[in-house]
Amino acid sequence: MTDPKLEAVIDELKGIVGEDYVLTSDVDLVAYSYDATFTSAQPNLVVLPGSTEEVAAVLKVANRERIPIVPRGMGTGLAAGSIPFGGGIAMPLTRMDRLLEIDRDNMMATAQAGIITSDMADALAREGYFYPPDPSSDHYSTLGGNVACNAGGAHCLKYGITGHYVVALEAVLADGRIVRLGGKATKNVTGYDLLHLLIGSEGTLAVITEVTVRFITPPEAERTAEAVFPKMEDAGRAINGVLASGANPAMLEIMDETAIRSVEDYLHLGLPLDAEAILIIQTDGNEEEAVRSIELAVQVCRDMGASQVRVASTPEESAELWHARHSISGSLGRIRPNKLGEDITVPRSAIPEMIARIKEISARHGLPIVIFGHAGDGNLHPNILFDKRDPEEYERVELAVGDLFRAAVEVGGSLSGEHGVGVLKRPYLEMALGPVAVEMQKRIKRALDPNNILNPGKIFE
Ligand SMILES: Cc1cc2nc3c(=O)[nH]c(=O)nc-3n(C[C@H](O)[C@H](O)[C@H](O)COP(=O)(O)OP(=O)(O)OC[C@H]3O[C@@H](n4cnc5c(N)ncnc54)[C@H](O)[C@@H]3O)c2cc1C
Repeated sequence: MTDPKLEAVIDELKGIVGEDYVLTSDVDLVAYSYDATFTSAQPNLVVLPGSTEEVAAVLKVANRERIPIVPRGMGTGLAAGSIPFGGGIAMPLTRMDRLLEIDRDNMMATAQAGIITSDMADALAREGYFYPPDPSSDHYSTLGGNVACNAGGAHCLKYGITGHYVVALEAVLADGRIVRLGGKATKNVTGYDLLHLLIGSEGTLAVITEVTVRFITPPEAERTAEAVFPKMEDAGRAINGVLASGANPAMLEIMDETAIRSVEDYLHLGLPLDAEAILIIQTDGNEEEAVRSIELAVQVCRDMGASQVRVASTPEESAELWHARHSISGSLGRIRPNKLGEDITVPRSAIPEMIARIKEISARHGLPIVIFGHAGDGNLHPNILFDKRDPEEYERVELAVGDLFRAAVEVGGSLSGEHGVGVLKRPYLEMALGPVAVEMQKRIKRALDPNNILNPGKIFE
């Protein structure tokens, strides 16, 4: 750190956030150079603001000096969105982690962006309320990161994604101005919908500092079933059949044969190795609704070719059924050291075709691809397993990714259901959206961040 101009900026930033919250040691720079992908790049410094006013002051300096600034939550992103490839300032919001208000009358909660999502959800649960968006990372990702990526999760099938719950945001623009969007009046069509423009903007348009979400009352009862299908095609039909039956499941997840084998090799749960797919279905409502719905779903699965169906009769049995699904990611590290977890979405009716195409891509490139995900909303997680130390293998991974995205778009789907574009999906943006939509997005970016300091290089080149 010998650049005198940078030294002067560091001193100025220390004056804003305090000496202890500007980090420049090698250890700190390495710590903030990763997310949950296999890529990394070091920032020049890390700045941890403690308030919205400090975020605003830091952005004013960065904008004046044209220093790239990368907002960051907990760095659990799966699209390389919080990695500072162009150097500059990494700005984690993790000091801003307070739950500010639970408004029982309006059933809304306000928190600083750096709160861990499950900390807020647990606080609401203690009061008898339910915040449904549940990314699997909710115990170690931030609400601000969830909003910036518009995160989803298993409950989103019935209850909707993060963006469906955000009613207001406080954010800081690239030039340091503070803006409040939305509010507690839920019907509001006054002007353009800027609130939802920021949701899913991946830190490229503004830094989100405060979030107001709505919450609901929890369902009284839940029921879980596991259905085993010898044929993937039948599982595909059953997904649509269950959803058309009126069962209205809260969650409907799929594991393909490679996912089943991976978990079974790891945990020896007695999963059927001759099955092509397992569906895990959860219904909820009052006791009667939850039971009636699971019976309906089970009947559909049996009618459509399930060879075996188990219904949990206690919460412990339900947790056991979910154990296999929740263990997939962990089991994959035993197969290959690295994984690229994609999150394509396809129309539900195209799930069997998409899975067949993924298997063909896996065979063509000689790479294991494990498939699981939120079948109910067509959001699949094909995970390509590889060893990044082998450059030839990594070249094949890049080709396979391109083929995966092309296949998803060809069957009527898209690149990302919840992880965002970041850097990894950037080359395929135009293929998914078309040139006009991409140009519109670039214009929005230029209008809000003319000096391109906010998370530059993410979503677009
Ligand atoms: C094991 C595992 C399971 C996961 N499961 C899911 C899942 O089920 N569903 C799902 O949707 N995702 C999932 N993810 C991905 C990831 O957890 C989510 O994308 C999450 O929302 C990222 O939050 P974060 O706080 O870690 O953000 P980061 O990774 O730090 O940042 C992600 C992006 O958001 C931007 N950002 C972060 N905070 C702010 C802010 N305050 N203002 C503006 N921009 C900001 C960053 O610049 C970056 O572009 C999973 C990840 C892992 C590792």
